[in-house]
Amino acid sequence: MRRLRLCCADCGEVTLPASEVTVTGTAEPGRVTCSFQCPVCGGASEQGCDVSAGRLLLMGGAKAKPATAPVAPPLGLADLVLLRELLNRSDFVEIMGRTG
Ligand SMILES: [Zn+2]
Repeated sequence: MRRLRLCCADCGEVTLPASEVTVTGTAEPGRVTCSFQCPVCGGASEQGCDVSAGRLLLMGGAKAKPATAPVAPPLGLADLVLLRELLNRSDFVEIMGRTG
């Protein structure tokens, strides 16, 4: 079994068998999430990576999980109108910085 190298938020770099890793699609195009249980601290860990890295993990034996329902609903027309209005404002960056 191939071992994959991933990064735990607490322990840093860890290696674990590919079968212990789950690659999940995200709402964001081109991005996937690799989730695994850290072999060192036992905590659930997640690592975002791009699709090509995710594909490599899958080829190495990781499990795939289809994307779950996105947390935020997709943008509707009203959101786009609002966004367009915001973009026309000179203090747009400031507003976004405040909410973020
Ligand atoms: Zn850990």
